Amino acid sequence: MALERLGSSLYEALRKVFKAPVMDEKTVKELARDIQRALLQADVNVKLVLEISKRIEDRALKEKVPPGISRREHVTKVVYEELTRFLGEKPAPLKTEPGKRKVLMLVGIQGSGKTTAAAKLAKYFQKRGLKTALVCTDTYRPGAYAQLQQLAKRANVPVYGDPKEKKYAKIALNGLKQFSDHDVVIIDTAGRHKEEKSLIEEMKKLEKAIKPNEVILVIDGTIGQQAALQAKAFHEATPIGSILVAKLDGSARGGGALSAVATIGAPIRFISLGEKIGDIEPFVPSRFVGRLLGMGDLQSLIEKVREAEVKVPERKMRAFLSGRFTLTDMYEQFESMKSMGPLRHVLKMIPGMTYNIPEEMMETAEDALKKWRVIIQSMTPEEREKPKILSASRIRRVARGSGTKEKEVKELLERYNMLRKMMKTLRRKRLPFFGKKGLPLT
Ligand code: GDP
Ligand code: MG
Repeated sequence: MALERLGSSLYEALRKVFKAPVMDEKTVKELARDIQRALLQADVNVKLVLEISKRIEDRALKEKVPPGISRREHVTKVVYEELTRFLGEKPAPLKTEPGKRKVLMLVGIQGSGKTTAAAKLAKYFQKRGLKTALVCTDTYRPGAYAQLQQLAKRANVPVYGDPKEKKYAKIALNGLKQFSDHDVVIIDTAGRHKEEKSLIEEMKKLEKAIKPNEVILVIDGTIGQQAALQAKAFHEATPIGSILVAKLDGSARGGGALSAVATIGAPIRFISLGEKIGDIEPFVPSRFVGRLLGMGDLQSLIEKVREAEVKVPERKMRAFLSGRFTLTDMYEQFESMKSMGPLRHVLKMIPGMTYNIPEEMMETAEDALKKWRVIIQSMTPEEREKPKILSASRIRRVARGSGTKEKEVKELLERYNMLRKMMKTLRRKRLPFFGKKGLPLT
C-alpha cells in the first residue's frame, strides 16, 4: 500500500538521524533531502515539498533546543510537527447528541465513493450509540437505491429511497420526515460524470431544500494532486463543512490527495482505508503522522517531552553539563521518568525503539530503577549532594535503611560516577554543532 511506502521511507529518513554519531548540519541536511524524496514519491506537490523540507531544516538547525531534551528528540519533534502541519488542522468535533438530529449530506463526483462512505459513516455513528438512518437521493444512476440498500443492510441501518420519484429534493424531504426521530441522517447524493456545472447546481438546490448541518465532500484518494482542484471547485459553490478522503487503501498517490485536500481550507474529517464497512476513521493529523511513521504514539511522547521542558530548568541543565551532577539530580531524573509511566511505555514512545527491547530486560531495568530510587531516598541530604562522603559504614546504613544489599548501593554509586564522567566528557568534546549548548545525544 502506497501510504505504507511513504511511511517507511519517512521512517528510514528519521532512522538515519537516530543512528548518526553526531547531529550536525550535514545530518540535518541529509534528513531534509530524504524527506523531500519520500514526499515527492508520494506525489505531494513540489512546492509544498520544498516548503516542508525547508521548514524542517531551518527549525532543526536554528531553533534553540529546550533544556532537558536531546537534539535528536528535538529534530524528531520538528519533523513530526511539520508533517502534521501540512496535513491540515484537526476539524472541530462533529457534535452528535442523542435527541438532536444531525443531517449530513455527502457530495462529490461520480465514483468518488459517496455511497460506500454513506454506509460506512452510518455504521460508524450507529456503533457509537446514535440512532442513524440513510437516505438515497441519487435519481440518476440506475440501481443506486439498490446499492445503498444492500450496503445499509450490512451496516444494519434503515434506509429510505424511492426509485420511482425523479425529484431528488422531494425524496430527501420525505426521508427526513420518516427519520424525524433519529440522531443522524446521512443523505447520499448523485454525482454526475464530470459535468461539474450541473452537478454543482443540483447540489446547491438540494442543500437549500434540506439545510443539512454539514456538507461532507467525498474525494477519491487515488486521484493525487487533482484532489485539490476538485475540492476547491466544490468549496467555492457551497461551503464544504468537511472532507472525507476515500480509497486510501489502494492508492498509489495517497500522500498527494491528503496534502492537496489539506491545503484548501476545509478540514479532512474522515478517511477510509479499506473496502470493508468498518474501514473508516476520524482523521487526526498528528495521529496519522505517528502511524505513518510507525513510531508508536509520538504525540504522547511530545507531550511528555513538553512536560519535561517545563520541569528541568535551564540552570540545572547547565549544572549537569559542568559536571555538578549530584545524586539529588539523579533522583529527580528517576522521578521524572516515573511520572512518564513504566519504563517500557516510555521506551515504546521513543521512535525507533518500538520492537527492539526484550521484555525481561525491560523488567530488570524497571526493577533496578525502583530500587535505586529507594536507595537514594534512604540517604541524608548531605550524602545526596556529596556522594563522595559515602564511606563503607554509611553504605551499610543506607543498605539497611532501604532494604537492599550493600552491593546494590555500590552499584548505584558506580552508575552515578559513570554518568557524571559521561557528562564531563560530553562537555569537553563540545560537539561540533551545538557549541556550549551541547546535550546528551540520546
Ligand atoms: P459514488 O459513485 O460516489 O457513490 O461511489 P461508490 O460508493 O459507488 O464507489 C465507487 C467504487 O469505489 C465502488 O466500486 C466501491 O466499491 C469503490 N470504493 C468506494 N470506497 C472505497 C474504499 O474506501 N476503498 C476501496 N478499495 N474501494 C472503494
Ligand atoms: Mg453513489
